[in-house]
Amino acid sequence: MFLAVTAAMVLFLSAGAYLLLTKEDASKKTIFAPEKKVESYEISLLCAGDIMEHEPQLKAQYDAASGTYQFDNNYAYVKDLIQAADLSLCNVETVFGGGQPEGYPLFNAPDSLAEAIKNAGFDVAFTANNHMLDQGGEGVLRSVDVLEGNGLEAVGSKTTPEEPNYALVEVEDITVGLVAYTYETTGSGSRRLINGLPVPQALSDQICSFNPARWEAETEKIAADLNQAQAAGADVLVCYLHWGEEYHTQPSQYQTKMAEKLIADTSVDVIFASHPHVLQPAQILYDQAEEKNVALFYSMGNFISNQRSETLGNRLTEDGILAQVDFEITKTDDAVSKIELVRSTALPTWVNRYGDGTGKYVYEILPLTGDFESLASLTASGHVDKARQSVVDSLNLIGGGYTKDEKGRIVIFDKVAWLLANGYDENGMKKES
Ligand SMILES: [Zn+2]
Repeated sequence: MFLAVTAAMVLFLSAGAYLLLTKEDASKKTIFAPEKKVESYEISLLCAGDIMEHEPQLKAQYDAASGTYQFDNNYAYVKDLIQAADLSLCNVETVFGGGQPEGYPLFNAPDSLAEAIKNAGFDVAFTANNHMLDQGGEGVLRSVDVLEGNGLEAVGSKTTPEEPNYALVEVEDITVGLVAYTYETTGSGSRRLINGLPVPQALSDQICSFNPARWEAETEKIAADLNQAQAAGADVLVCYLHWGEEYHTQPSQYQTKMAEKLIADTSVDVIFASHPHVLQPAQILYDQAEEKNVALFYSMGNFISNQRSETLGNRLTEDGILAQVDFEITKTDDAVSKIELVRSTALPTWVNRYGDGTGKYVYEILPLTGDFESLASLTASGHVDKARQSVVDSLNLIGGGYTKDEKGRIVIFDKVAWLLANGYDENGMKKES
């Protein structure tokens, strides 16, 4: 009886309150409006380091029967990983000059390499690196055409001065803005040099390069491109930098200063970088002004090359990573309302090289995760111990204190783990005790 009366009173009060509101606040329609539609999903960006083609590799990839170069086998073990990301990027450290292919010191790759890079799952090819002038100005222009002709977005050089320095790529309704720059070498005069080769006057506005000796002013130039990309609609900003000292496993001072300045002066979300041919640390820098985490990979190492212990006496040049950043996108009423870095990882890779029994080498990029020791490439070549050593080296160089996730990737940042370690639950609510 008591319960029934109470229920009736509640009903009565509720109805009264409702009437009161509709009479007095009839204009406040928001009270009865449907809730806002909020949805969230993740996008993943993956990046590989230097793709190089030295003379022994060209020899290995040449198919005498057809008279062509075939590179697809290099990527057979990693293509699923590259294709799984929403956007995959890499540094193509050679040029497509046409004519006779050449290895070091003046690289010239067969056009079929661009096709293999696309087949492997890459979407974007960075062209800003110290070998971009190896086949002169013509090589710069032809490389962009060959890459784009194979469905890759070339970033870091362009065929006309009118085009912007940035590229915009759509990923799941999100616009990713991309900018790529390479370091310049210094000569005796004031000429702009890349690897000692003068930048052709006609291409001065079509090549993205910076002088590390003037890193502060030069970083402002790179920042301006990133800010323009943002103004043009980029939701996520990616900067690729080709920088640092060869074979140094720690960043030089200018690398650190440039990264910090870029983060302070722009809304950059991730900095991918390479050139040292060995791995350097990966970390998270906090952007105070924008209150967000920014992922920084100082050097992703070599993705594929003939630089190795047998040729250079440096086994670290055989190591690379597939760097990956995942962003959580929140949309409110179909408009992007928040973009947040939720994960930054490095999947260790290693280049296996072995003889095929006919006097030719086989090069295969192997992912060193999961049950990698049973990969046919390793069991057939007997190189399991070398690969095991690479796993140890890579973790030490990316950051010895990091752990690995269930996929075998080095975890540089994980939002949920960070929340749990800092007194929050996995939804970001502060825990009571
Ligand atoms: Zn380089």
